[in-house]
Amino acid sequence: MILSMEIDKFSNWLIHRTGKCLVAGPCSVESEEQILGTAKELAPCDVTLLRGGIWKPRTRPGSFEGIGEKGLNWLKAAGRATSLPVATEVAIPAHVEQCLNANIDVLWIGARTTTSPIAVQAIADSLAGIDIPVMIKNPMNPDLGLWIGAIERVRRAGIKRVVAVHRGFSTHIRHKYRNQPLWSIPLELRSRMPEIPILCDPSHICGTQQYIASISEAALEAGLDGLMIESHWRPESALSDPGQQLSPAQFAELVGQVVRNRNLGVASRNRESDNLWREIDEIDQDIGALLSTRVSILRKIEADGADGSRISGKTWANICATRLVAAVAKQLLGTGESKLGECDSGCTQTEARSIETRKWLLRSKTSPCGDSVTTERPA
Ligand code: PEP
Ligand code: MN
Repeated sequence: MILSMEIDKFSNWLIHRTGKCLVAGPCSVESEEQILGTAKELAPCDVTLLRGGIWKPRTRPGSFEGIGEKGLNWLKAAGRATSLPVATEVAIPAHVEQCLNANIDVLWIGARTTTSPIAVQAIADSLAGIDIPVMIKNPMNPDLGLWIGAIERVRRAGIKRVVAVHRGFSTHIRHKYRNQPLWSIPLELRSRMPEIPILCDPSHICGTQQYIASISEAALEAGLDGLMIESHWRPESALSDPGQQLSPAQFAELVGQVVRNRNLGVASRNRESDNLWREIDEIDQDIGALLSTRVSILRKIEADGADGSRISGKTWANICATRLVAAVAKQLLGTGESKLGECDSGCTQTEARSIETRKWLLRSKTSPCGDSVTTERPA
């Protein structure tokens, strides 16, 4: 990536000797001992920036909502003890003020806040005239406009060092990840704002330790500029997000395997096509997840009772016709001359079948819902 002068300067701060920015630290600062102990174990692992949440935006009330202002001094002291700059999340202007009073080095805006332009603007206004780096996580929902809007609001307040953080998106599709990566969104952000460094936060994408290494690898292969990973000295007893935090030893192993190895020359073959294949993988996973939901609904219909579960010829014809009309509208069936469905071995059976399907569709299209629709499906 070509870096502008401004980003170059930022990179000096941002990028450590691994060539990538590595932000690590617990989801939440819990005690003086916990943040200091975690920081000391993380410091030898090429960490660029120590993170720790002070005010936690929890989905439901009643869980640990952060230690509050007193934790800022513990976080800063842990940073001093390990010579690391420190970062925390701000959600309202009062947080910004308290962070500035405690000399916090970097602020970040969390996913729930990025979702609200009014909240982001209030934070941006409170930052006017202050020179502090700000990281902006993507909004909860897959809306690139909201993410770009938040970046613009913060930049318009005069903040020059802005970093985007990709932490995945909440969607209606049940997935193995807590938040779907939807790689096309950070990649589109990069093409629209190439001067903004983008970090990936595999902890919040995965929701469990299990996939953190593979998502970290994917992020670096996609060309993102670094990682933000939650790490806690005793992950199993963490007061927030226990499942997705690595111990410092696990973090060190990940840096060795995923970050350093990569820099030793595991060359990215063809980044552009790799990124497109990554998108295809995600789409295929979504299709699988949707089909599985569809099958479970059908099973429920089946279990619900004999009559309701029997599908009439008319209903079946309606289902086929409406779905095929939709497929044609989306140009999924090609033009008739295409090699749609032809397999590697040169077998043309599937192609012939697709042409038959189109012919059948043309017959049924005149009345997709009526009795006149043929129920005789192509082979
Ligand atoms: C966090 O970093 O701990 C956090 C709450 O993140 P997000 O805003 O991405 O959910
Ligand atoms: Mn967290």
